[in-house]
Amino acid sequence: MDSIKPYIFRMRPYLCEKVWGGRNLERLFDKPLPANELVGEAWEVADLPEGQSVVDSGALAGRTLGQLVALWGQQLTGSRSEGESFPLLVKILDAQKDLSIQVHPGDEQVGAIAGARSKDECWLVLDVAEGGSVLHGFSGAVDRASFACAVEQGQAVDLLRRIAVAPGDVIRVAPGTVHAICSGVVLLEMQQPSDTTYRVYDYGRAGLDGRPRPLHLEQALAVIDWEGSEAAQLIVERVEAGAHALHVLVDVPAYRVERLKAAARLRWRVDPGSVQIVFVLDGACRVSGRDGAPVELARGQTALIPACAGTVELVSHNKHAEVVVAGLGGHVLVDIVE
Ligand code: ZN
Repeated sequence: MDSIKPYIFRMRPYLCEKVWGGRNLERLFDKPLPANELVGEAWEVADLPEGQSVVDSGALAGRTLGQLVALWGQQLTGSRSEGESFPLLVKILDAQKDLSIQVHPGDEQVGAIAGARSKDECWLVLDVAEGGSVLHGFSGAVDRASFACAVEQGQAVDLLRRIAVAPGDVIRVAPGTVHAICSGVVLLEMQQPSDTTYRVYDYGRAGLDGRPRPLHLEQALAVIDWEGSEAAQLIVERVEAGAHALHVLVDVPAYRVERLKAAARLRWRVDPGSVQIVFVLDGACRVSGRDGAPVELARGQTALIPACAGTVELVSHNKHAEVVVAGLGGHVLVDIVE
């Protein structure tokens, strides 16, 4: 195995059954789901103790993402990552009920909290049922005491800003921002790989085991950003890219996300500083690099491009393929050479 060079591989997601999940991953993306299960999350790219995505193509098919990181380190993850675990987490969420209201800590706070890891996340909305929305930040001035009181009375939702969403909307959830995904929304979530979530309110619901899920109000109150009220939906920046349509969706220190509508064929240079994650929004394509066999990707599938890949090629089948490319923040991801 040591002689195998990092190659571009398709991933098989780790699926999570959830009380609030549904069957939309099958309907929208033909993902094979276990019969009779409500699937809430597909962890397309995950290297966490709680779950691992698995390689679905090539010589290392069946290996977990964590095993690849152990094998290749920064050759895979990039020189700007630590190289010890995978630096990003990408999930598809299918929310068929309102998800719990929650908040995550940021870099400035995690030092003081044992076991906590920073989590900056963003959402790309994929599909929305009539009236689908998300909650993001406060709708007006709120302080710690008034929010704690509203939570006690089961009225936290009333203080949050409700945003109607449509497919293609991009929303960044900075650490400290109270948020929730509401019923009828399917989205792609890209984030720092942390499971540090402080749940504020869960609608009094029971989990899969029939017991109420734990809440973490004190921890939440300690990390909430009471000033934060920046607009949630991001203005997306278009980049000149010839026959291709290229937009930067989000660029924060922890991650960068670009959206590419590719003409028939293009090649781009991969920055050795960061691994790249390719998720197919529409159409189908083939991605190939110097090492390993080309990878075929259908709508809803995800591939990883190692940071050491050099120049890669994407060929669209039939119609123009539309993909999301995610990586570490600060550098151009789709650096087109032709
Ligand atoms: Zn969250």
